[in-house]
Amino acid sequence: MKAAIYYGAKDIHTTDIADPGLEEPHGILVKVNATSICGSDLHLYRGSMDPIMEKGRSQTGHELIGEIVETGSDVNKFNVGDRVSMAYSCSCGDCYMCNVGQTAHCETTQKAVYGFGVPFGDMNGTHAEALVLPHADAHVIKVPKTISDAAALTLSCNLPSAIIANKLADIQPGEKVALIGCGPTGLMSLDIALKKSPGNVVALDPVAHRRAVAAKKGAIVIDSTLDDAKEQALAHCEGRGFDKVIEVVGSQESLQMSLDLIRPGGTIAAIGVFCDQEFNLVLADVFLRDITLHMNGFANVQPYMEEGLNLMEQGEINPDEYFSHDFALVDIDKAFKMFYDKSDNAMKMLIRP
Ligand SMILES: [Zn+2]
Ligand SMILES: [Zn+2]
Repeated sequence: MKAAIYYGAKDIHTTDIADPGLEEPHGILVKVNATSICGSDLHLYRGSMDPIMEKGRSQTGHELIGEIVETGSDVNKFNVGDRVSMAYSCSCGDCYMCNVGQTAHCETTQKAVYGFGVPFGDMNGTHAEALVLPHADAHVIKVPKTISDAAALTLSCNLPSAIIANKLADIQPGEKVALIGCGPTGLMSLDIALKKSPGNVVALDPVAHRRAVAAKKGAIVIDSTLDDAKEQALAHCEGRGFDKVIEVVGSQESLQMSLDLIRPGGTIAAIGVFCDQEFNLVLADVFLRDITLHMNGFANVQPYMEEGLNLMEQGEINPDEYFSHDFALVDIDKAFKMFYDKSDNAMKMLIRP
Protein backbone atom coordinates (compact mmCIF):
# COMPACT_ATOMS: atom_id res chain seq x y z
CA MET A 1 0.00 0.00 0.00
CA LYS A 2 0.94 3.66 -0.26
CA ALA A 3 2.08 5.43 2.91
CA ALA A 4 3.96 8.62 3.72
CA ILE A 5 7.43 8.14 5.19
CA TYR A 6 9.88 10.55 6.82
CA TYR A 7 13.06 10.77 4.74
CA GLY A 8 14.54 13.89 6.31
CA ALA A 9 13.86 17.57 6.90
CA LYS A 10 11.35 18.86 4.32
CA ASP A 11 11.25 15.43 2.73
CA ILE A 12 8.11 13.48 3.62
CA HIS A 13 6.61 11.63 0.69
CA THR A 14 4.69 8.48 -0.13
CA THR A 15 6.17 5.18 -1.09
CA ASP A 16 4.99 1.56 -1.28
CA ILE A 17 5.21 -0.40 1.98
CA ALA A 18 3.87 -3.77 3.11
CA ASP A 19 0.14 -3.86 3.85
CA PRO A 20 -0.54 -3.62 7.60
CA GLY A 21 -2.04 -6.66 9.30
CA LEU A 22 -3.64 -7.26 12.70
CA GLU A 23 -1.21 -8.83 15.15
CA GLU A 24 -2.92 -8.28 18.48
CA PRO A 25 -6.46 -9.24 19.55
CA HIS A 26 -7.23 -5.72 20.83
CA GLY A 27 -6.47 -4.06 17.49
CA ILE A 28 -8.52 -3.04 14.48
CA LEU A 29 -7.49 -2.58 10.87
CA VAL A 30 -8.86 0.63 9.37
CA LYS A 31 -9.06 1.80 5.77
CA VAL A 32 -8.24 5.51 5.72
CA ASN A 33 -10.99 7.63 4.15
CA ALA A 34 -9.21 10.90 4.85
CA THR A 35 -6.39 12.32 6.92
CA SER A 36 -4.74 15.68 7.42
CA ILE A 37 -1.57 17.44 8.51
CA CYS A 38 -1.36 18.87 12.02
CA GLY A 39 0.69 21.87 13.11
CA SER A 40 2.68 19.43 15.24
CA ASP A 41 3.65 17.54 12.07
CA LEU A 42 5.47 20.69 11.00
CA HIS A 43 8.03 20.04 13.74
CA LEU A 44 8.75 16.79 11.90
CA TYR A 45 8.74 18.51 8.53
CA ARG A 46 11.07 21.27 9.67
CA GLY A 47 13.54 18.65 10.92
CA SER A 48 13.25 19.49 14.64
CA MET A 49 12.84 15.79 15.40
CA ASP A 50 15.32 14.54 12.82
CA PRO A 51 17.56 12.72 15.31
CA ILE A 52 14.68 10.61 16.62
CA MET A 53 13.05 9.66 13.33
CA GLU A 54 14.17 6.59 11.46
CA LYS A 55 14.69 7.99 7.97
CA GLY A 56 13.13 5.96 5.20
CA ARG A 57 10.97 3.95 7.64
CA SER A 58 9.07 6.09 10.19
CA GLN A 59 5.49 6.75 9.05
CA THR A 60 3.69 10.06 9.58
CA GLY A 61 0.14 11.24 10.31
CA HIS A 62 -2.13 11.13 13.35
CA GLU A 63 -5.51 12.48 12.22
CA LEU A 64 -8.03 9.96 10.95
CA ILE A 65 -11.45 9.30 9.60
CA GLY A 66 -11.73 5.77 8.28
CA GLU A 67 -13.67 2.54 8.07
CA ILE A 68 -12.98 -0.64 9.99
CA VAL A 69 -12.12 -3.58 7.74
CA GLU A 70 -11.10 -6.10 10.41
CA THR A 71 -11.41 -6.38 14.19
CA GLY A 72 -9.33 -8.39 16.67
CA SER A 73 -11.02 -11.05 18.80
CA ASP A 74 -10.86 -8.93 22.00
CA VAL A 75 -12.46 -5.84 20.45
CA ASN A 76 -15.91 -5.25 21.96
CA LYS A 77 -17.03 -1.79 20.92
CA PHE A 78 -16.61 -1.96 17.16
CA ASN A 79 -17.64 -3.92 14.11
CA VAL A 80 -16.39 -4.16 10.55
CA GLY A 81 -17.84 -1.26 8.56
CA ASP A 82 -17.94 1.21 11.47
CA ARG A 83 -16.85 4.75 10.60
CA VAL A 84 -14.25 5.78 13.15
CA SER A 85 -11.68 8.31 14.28
CA MET A 86 -9.03 7.85 16.98
CA ALA A 87 -7.02 9.86 19.50
CA TYR A 88 -3.54 10.74 18.21
CA SER A 89 -2.00 8.98 21.21
CA CYS A 90 -2.53 5.25 21.58
CA SER A 91 -3.81 4.53 25.09
CA CYS A 92 -4.84 1.23 26.68
CA GLY A 93 -7.68 2.48 28.90
CA ASP A 94 -6.58 0.15 31.66
CA CYS A 95 -3.42 1.45 33.35
CA TYR A 96 -3.09 3.96 36.19
CA MET A 97 -2.41 6.93 33.91
CA CYS A 98 -5.34 6.08 31.62
CA ASN A 99 -7.59 5.75 34.66
CA VAL A 100 -6.66 9.22 35.90
CA GLY A 101 -7.33 10.68 32.44
CA GLN A 102 -3.68 11.10 31.44
CA THR A 103 -4.16 9.03 28.33
CA ALA A 104 -1.16 10.55 26.51
CA HIS A 105 0.97 9.08 29.29
CA CYS A 106 -0.36 5.54 29.01
CA GLU A 107 1.95 3.16 30.84
CA THR A 108 1.05 0.17 28.69
CA THR A 109 1.87 1.78 25.34
CA GLN A 110 4.64 3.95 26.84
CA LYS A 111 3.26 7.22 25.42
CA ALA A 112 2.80 5.78 21.95
CA VAL A 113 1.75 8.33 19.35
CA TYR A 114 0.72 7.58 15.77
CA GLY A 115 3.15 8.82 13.14
CA PHE A 116 6.02 10.12 15.28
CA GLY A 117 8.75 7.53 15.00
CA VAL A 118 10.61 5.20 17.31
CA PRO A 119 10.63 7.26 20.57
CA PHE A 120 6.84 7.44 20.45
CA GLY A 121 6.22 3.74 20.12
CA ASP A 122 7.24 3.24 16.48
CA MET A 123 3.57 3.35 15.48
CA ASN A 124 2.15 3.34 11.98
CA GLY A 125 0.57 6.56 10.74
CA THR A 126 -2.62 7.87 9.16
CA HIS A 127 -0.87 9.23 6.05
CA ALA A 128 -1.49 5.85 4.47
CA GLU A 129 -4.15 3.78 2.74
CA ALA A 130 -4.72 1.76 5.91
CA LEU A 131 -3.39 1.39 9.44
CA VAL A 132 -3.69 -0.73 12.57
CA LEU A 133 -5.07 0.80 15.77
CA PRO A 134 -4.10 -1.29 18.82
CA HIS A 135 -6.15 -1.00 22.04
CA ALA A 136 -9.04 0.17 19.87
CA ASP A 137 -11.73 0.00 22.56
CA ALA A 138 -9.80 2.58 24.62
CA HIS A 139 -9.14 5.44 22.19
CA VAL A 140 -11.24 4.96 19.03
CA ILE A 141 -14.60 6.67 18.58
CA LYS A 142 -17.51 5.95 16.23
CA VAL A 143 -18.44 8.96 14.10
CA PRO A 144 -22.01 9.43 12.80
CA LYS A 145 -22.54 10.08 9.08
CA THR A 146 -23.90 13.56 9.84
CA ILE A 147 -20.33 14.69 10.60
CA SER A 148 -18.26 15.37 7.46
CA ASP A 149 -14.92 13.65 6.89
CA ALA A 150 -13.09 16.96 7.35
CA ALA A 151 -14.83 17.80 10.62
CA ALA A 152 -14.36 14.25 11.93
CA LEU A 153 -10.60 14.46 11.38
CA THR A 154 -10.33 17.18 13.99
CA LEU A 155 -11.46 14.70 16.67
CA SER A 156 -8.01 13.07 16.61
CA CYS A 157 -6.17 16.10 17.90
CA ASN A 158 -7.21 19.70 17.07
CA LEU A 159 -10.70 19.95 18.55
CA PRO A 160 -10.11 18.11 21.86
CA SER A 161 -6.94 20.20 22.26
CA ALA A 162 -8.99 23.38 21.81
CA ILE A 163 -11.44 22.10 24.43
CA ILE A 164 -8.56 21.37 26.82
CA ALA A 165 -7.05 24.85 26.26
CA ASN A 166 -10.35 26.36 27.33
CA LYS A 167 -10.75 24.07 30.34
CA LEU A 168 -7.29 25.12 31.53
CA ALA A 169 -7.89 28.82 30.83
CA ASP A 170 -11.33 28.68 32.50
CA ILE A 171 -12.40 32.04 31.04
CA GLN A 172 -14.96 33.91 33.15
CA PRO A 173 -17.46 36.42 31.70
CA GLY A 174 -15.78 39.74 30.98
CA GLU A 175 -12.23 38.45 31.27
CA LYS A 176 -9.73 39.74 28.75
CA VAL A 177 -8.06 37.02 26.74
CA ALA A 178 -4.99 36.86 24.49
CA LEU A 179 -4.74 34.06 21.94
CA ILE A 180 -1.29 33.40 20.55
CA GLY A 181 -1.49 31.39 17.34
CA CYS A 182 -4.38 31.31 14.86
CA GLY A 183 -3.88 27.98 13.14
CA PRO A 184 -6.88 25.60 13.08
CA THR A 185 -6.45 24.58 16.74
CA GLY A 186 -6.01 28.22 17.76
CA LEU A 187 -9.12 29.25 15.86
CA MET A 188 -11.17 26.42 17.38
CA SER A 189 -9.88 27.52 20.79
CA LEU A 190 -11.14 30.99 19.85
CA ASP A 191 -14.54 29.59 18.82
CA ILE A 192 -14.95 28.01 22.24
CA ALA A 193 -13.49 30.99 24.14
CA LEU A 194 -15.90 33.42 22.48
CA LYS A 195 -18.84 31.45 23.89
CA LYS A 196 -17.66 32.26 27.43
CA SER A 197 -18.70 35.94 27.09
CA PRO A 198 -15.15 37.26 27.44
CA GLY A 199 -14.14 40.93 27.35
CA ASN A 200 -11.56 41.93 24.76
CA VAL A 201 -10.05 38.98 22.94
CA VAL A 202 -6.78 39.79 21.20
CA ALA A 203 -5.40 37.27 18.69
CA LEU A 204 -1.77 37.35 17.56
CA ASP A 205 -0.50 35.53 14.48
CA PRO A 206 2.12 36.15 11.79
CA VAL A 207 -0.14 35.07 8.88
CA ALA A 208 -2.54 37.66 7.41
CA HIS A 209 -5.25 35.28 6.19
CA ARG A 210 -5.40 33.51 9.56
CA ARG A 211 -5.69 36.86 11.35
CA ALA A 212 -8.52 37.72 8.96
CA VAL A 213 -10.49 34.65 10.10
CA ALA A 214 -9.95 35.55 13.77
CA ALA A 215 -11.00 39.14 13.09
CA LYS A 216 -14.20 37.98 11.39
CA LYS A 217 -15.10 36.02 14.51
CA GLY A 218 -14.73 39.15 16.63
CA ALA A 219 -11.15 39.10 17.88
CA ILE A 220 -8.87 42.15 17.83
CA VAL A 221 -5.98 40.94 15.67
CA ILE A 222 -2.31 41.86 15.78
CA ASP A 223 0.55 40.82 13.50
CA SER A 224 2.85 38.97 15.91
CA THR A 225 5.91 39.77 13.77
CA LEU A 226 5.64 43.51 14.47
CA ASP A 227 8.26 44.95 16.82
CA ASP A 228 5.54 46.52 18.95
CA ALA A 229 3.11 43.56 18.90
CA LYS A 230 3.33 43.21 22.68
CA GLU A 231 2.64 46.91 23.31
CA GLN A 232 -0.24 46.87 20.84
CA ALA A 233 -1.77 43.88 22.64
CA LEU A 234 -1.30 45.35 26.11
CA ALA A 235 -3.11 48.51 25.00
CA HIS A 236 -6.29 46.40 24.97
CA CYS A 237 -6.05 45.50 28.67
CA GLU A 238 -5.09 48.85 30.17
CA GLY A 239 -1.47 47.74 30.12
CA ARG A 240 -1.91 45.46 33.15
CA GLY A 241 -1.92 42.21 31.22
CA PHE A 242 -4.63 39.75 30.17
CA ASP A 243 -6.61 37.66 32.62
CA LYS A 244 -6.03 34.58 30.47
CA VAL A 245 -3.59 33.69 27.71
CA ILE A 246 -4.10 30.73 25.39
CA GLU A 247 -0.89 29.74 23.63
CA VAL A 248 -1.14 27.48 20.55
CA VAL A 249 2.27 27.79 18.89
CA GLY A 250 4.98 26.02 20.90
CA SER A 251 8.05 28.23 20.49
CA GLN A 252 10.33 30.09 22.89
CA GLU A 253 9.00 33.36 21.44
CA SER A 254 5.35 32.41 21.92
CA LEU A 255 5.91 31.30 25.52
CA GLN A 256 7.81 34.51 26.26
CA MET A 257 4.97 36.50 24.70
CA SER A 258 2.50 34.60 26.92
CA LEU A 259 4.51 35.56 30.01
CA ASP A 260 4.78 39.16 28.80
CA LEU A 261 1.01 39.40 28.23
CA ILE A 262 -0.37 37.74 31.38
CA ARG A 263 -1.46 39.86 34.33
CA PRO A 264 -0.46 39.05 37.92
CA GLY A 265 -2.53 36.11 39.11
CA GLY A 266 -3.47 35.23 35.54
CA THR A 267 -3.50 31.84 33.87
CA ILE A 268 -1.56 30.76 30.79
CA ALA A 269 -2.89 27.70 28.98
CA ALA A 270 -0.05 26.65 26.67
CA ILE A 271 -1.08 23.83 24.36
CA GLY A 272 1.55 24.46 21.69
CA VAL A 273 3.93 21.59 20.94
CA PHE A 274 7.30 22.56 22.39
CA CYS A 275 10.42 20.88 21.01
CA ASP A 276 13.07 23.19 22.48
CA GLN A 277 15.11 21.76 25.33
CA GLU A 278 15.60 25.00 27.22
CA PHE A 279 13.85 28.24 28.04
CA ASN A 280 15.00 31.13 30.16
CA LEU A 281 12.09 31.11 32.63
CA VAL A 282 12.54 33.81 35.26
CA LEU A 283 11.28 31.92 38.30
CA ALA A 284 11.19 35.01 40.52
CA ASP A 285 8.94 36.74 37.98
CA VAL A 286 6.51 33.81 37.80
CA PHE A 287 6.56 33.60 41.62
CA LEU A 288 6.18 37.32 42.31
CA ARG A 289 3.34 37.65 39.80
CA ASP A 290 1.55 34.46 40.96
CA ILE A 291 1.23 33.15 37.44
CA THR A 292 -0.42 29.82 36.76
CA LEU A 293 1.30 28.16 33.80
CA HIS A 294 -0.33 25.08 32.29
CA MET A 295 1.52 23.23 29.55
CA ASN A 296 -0.56 20.56 27.89
CA GLY A 297 0.55 20.35 24.27
CA PHE A 298 1.06 16.62 24.81
CA ALA A 299 -2.66 16.64 25.28
CA ASN A 300 -4.85 13.92 26.75
CA VAL A 301 -7.37 14.15 23.94
CA GLN A 302 -9.19 10.83 24.38
CA PRO A 303 -11.32 11.98 27.35
CA TYR A 304 -12.52 15.00 25.30
CA MET A 305 -13.36 13.38 21.97
CA GLU A 306 -16.99 12.75 22.92
CA GLU A 307 -17.37 16.39 23.96
CA GLY A 308 -15.86 17.45 20.64
CA LEU A 309 -18.35 15.28 18.80
CA ASN A 310 -21.21 16.81 20.82
CA LEU A 311 -20.04 20.35 20.01
CA MET A 312 -20.14 19.51 16.31
CA GLU A 313 -23.50 17.72 16.48
CA GLN A 314 -25.05 20.68 18.30
CA GLY A 315 -23.65 23.06 15.69
CA GLU A 316 -21.56 24.85 18.32
CA ILE A 317 -18.43 24.42 16.26
CA ASN A 318 -17.93 23.79 12.56
CA PRO A 319 -14.40 22.59 11.78
CA ASP A 320 -15.21 22.32 8.04
CA GLU A 321 -14.52 26.02 7.74
CA TYR A 322 -10.84 25.48 8.50
CA PHE A 323 -10.19 23.14 5.57
CA SER A 324 -8.79 25.08 2.64
CA HIS A 325 -7.29 22.47 0.29
CA ASP A 326 -7.76 18.88 -0.91
CA PHE A 327 -4.81 16.70 -1.85
CA ALA A 328 -4.33 13.11 -2.94
CA LEU A 329 -2.16 11.06 -0.56
CA VAL A 330 0.50 10.64 -3.28
CA ASP A 331 0.83 14.45 -3.34
CA ILE A 332 1.35 14.75 0.42
CA ASP A 333 4.79 16.28 -0.17
CA LYS A 334 3.06 19.19 -1.91
CA ALA A 335 0.49 19.43 0.90
CA PHE A 336 3.28 19.57 3.52
CA LYS A 337 5.09 22.31 1.59
CA MET A 338 1.96 24.42 1.18
CA PHE A 339 0.94 23.97 4.83
CA TYR A 340 4.46 24.83 5.98
CA ASP A 341 4.74 27.91 3.73
CA LYS A 342 1.12 28.96 4.45
CA SER A 343 0.95 29.76 0.74
CA ASP A 344 -2.31 30.11 -1.22
CA ASN A 345 -4.16 31.04 2.01
CA ALA A 346 -3.54 27.51 3.33
CA MET A 347 -5.37 26.61 6.55
CA LYS A 348 -5.84 22.85 6.79
CA MET A 349 -5.50 20.09 4.23
CA LEU A 350 -7.90 17.23 3.54
CA ILE A 351 -5.81 14.34 2.23
CA ARG A 352 -7.42 11.32 0.60
CA PRO A 353 -5.73 8.04 -0.31
ZN1 LIG B 1 -2.01 16.94 16.02
ZN1 LIG C 1 -2.97 3.03 29.57
